[in-house]
Amino acid sequence: MSKHQFQTEVTQLLDLMIHSLYSNKEIFLRELVSNASDALDKLNYLTLTDETYKALSYVPRIDIAINKELKTLSISDSGIGMNEEELIENLGTIAKSGTKSFLQNLSGDKKKDSSLIGQFGVGFYSAFMVANKIEVISRKAGEEKAYMWSSTAGAEYEIAEVSKESHGTSITLYLKDDEDEFLEFYRIQNVIKKYSNHIQFPIFMDKEEKSYDDEGKEKSSEIKNEQINKASALWTVAKSQIKPEEYKDFYQQISHDSTDPLLWSHTKAEGKYEYTTLFYIPSTPPMDLFRMDYKPGVKLYVKRVFITDDEKELLPTYLRFVKGIIDAEDLPLNVSREILQQNKVLEAIKKASVKKILSELKSLKEKESEKYLEFYKNFGRVVKEGLYNDWDNKEALLELVLFKSSKRDGLVSLKEYKEAMKEDQKSIYYITGENEKILRNSPLIEQFKAKDIEVLLLDEEVDAIVFPMVGEYDKTPIKPVNNSDIDEEIKEDKAKVEEDEKTYKEILVKMKEILKDDAKDVKISSRLSDSPSCLVYDKNDPDFQMQQMLKQMGQ
Ligand code: ADP
Ligand code: MG
Repeated sequence: MSKHQFQTEVTQLLDLMIHSLYSNKEIFLRELVSNASDALDKLNYLTLTDETYKALSYVPRIDIAINKELKTLSISDSGIGMNEEELIENLGTIAKSGTKSFLQNLSGDKKKDSSLIGQFGVGFYSAFMVANKIEVISRKAGEEKAYMWSSTAGAEYEIAEVSKESHGTSITLYLKDDEDEFLEFYRIQNVIKKYSNHIQFPIFMDKEEKSYDDEGKEKSSEIKNEQINKASALWTVAKSQIKPEEYKDFYQQISHDSTDPLLWSHTKAEGKYEYTTLFYIPSTPPMDLFRMDYKPGVKLYVKRVFITDDEKELLPTYLRFVKGIIDAEDLPLNVSREILQQNKVLEAIKKASVKKILSELKSLKEKESEKYLEFYKNFGRVVKEGLYNDWDNKEALLELVLFKSSKRDGLVSLKEYKEAMKEDQKSIYYITGENEKILRNSPLIEQFKAKDIEVLLLDEEVDAIVFPMVGEYDKTPIKPVNNSDIDEEIKEDKAKVEEDEKTYKEILVKMKEILKDDAKDVKISSRLSDSPSCLVYDKNDPDFQMQQMLKQMGQ
């Protein structure tokens, strides 16, 4: 037997789990079953693709057992299993960036922190919400030795060599005193049906069946081993046969998010390539949304066999909040990562999936604007990134973006802007900057206000990078207000300017002299109504904001 120290973050997480006030404790079962299912997926994949595992015969299944005397609950699987190093690595440290950022977000306030658990898949350690001791006995497929990992939380855990007949993992929870509910068959069955009905593998459990005589006395009791989940992959079921509740449950199962998804889209394609996709848009943003090492939300299957959940190329990065699955018929099972990334079947699926998701969002915008606003509040910034790197879908993306406006409250789309345009207005105008209030009062838009022309107020960092490149929407040019073209477009009063030029000739010369290298030119303009002066850039120069950015980057 050997003693080991938990990584500090683990101790921190365990402490939170043990003192958790979180009301939805039952999710620990979802986490353990999902780990068992992952382990079966991994072994399944190896037996299909790896010579050394091909001969291995096994029945993929998960078994749940209750022991009322000992007050234990155990979850066993015939999956890949873990050897000694893997037990230490997987159950003694936290590798996932998601969990690390979860911990960074903790406030120290137990109540608040507990509610964060629900938004986060905290995995194996969540079992300490209901157990004060856990034993994990595991034997790696293809290896002889088996090990037991055990812990009563705290700072340490133990590992000892044990014997186990076949490969797989068996996890035993010693339930806390007030967690007896998890010793009841029906309680467990309900939780399994709720979260794990559609994992691909069957889950079995013993059920006691009693029969009674006419007087109500127990005549006999018999124990039957029953399958308690459906064990069919939800996405293979016909759309018309799936209830909204089932779609939602499946979402929670794959996303570890306890809130309902905003929308889902289930597609079976049977054209050149055959595949099924089931995508979800979450209603709350994941915590790693703006992290480089975000966890991708789409799992890849080939003919129902799980391949990977760690492939960022399945969807473009600006759709990184989308959760779901892609199940392809026309891929070999043993696709390597390199092959995946340049595979033309996957490329075609990706392309069609992006179009599908964007069109679903467009119809959400048209049909349920409240819901769409909720989506936009969470993910609008991310979607805008697409305008920068997905040129093919520019049109579709421009239908999705919303803006603040100089003329109205709330957000406006480009379509709405165009519909409200003045008859002789030539372009769509926008101003970029960091602060909505400053933009609203900018001298650069005075003339537009005076002429009752709407200006879009772009106050997010990404706007200044993205919008100068957009060019046009539905054949109407999109221009920044500080572009020198604009004087002509909004009909500068030529006569007045000429007159002013004469009157103020001397002062103009003087100003040019003083500003010398700081300004290219000093001109009379009619674009201002209240302010004395403003800065504009030459239409042949890069956008002013762009210049600022180049400066920041040291150029
Ligand atoms: P996650 O499943 O998100 O990786 P968990 O905390 O749930 O995080 O599990 C940590 C790791 O422990 C898993 O990635 C896996 O490698 C390992 N593990 C947990 N349960 C099992 C199991 N039943 N069989 C094999 N490995 C397991
Ligand atoms: Mg897990």
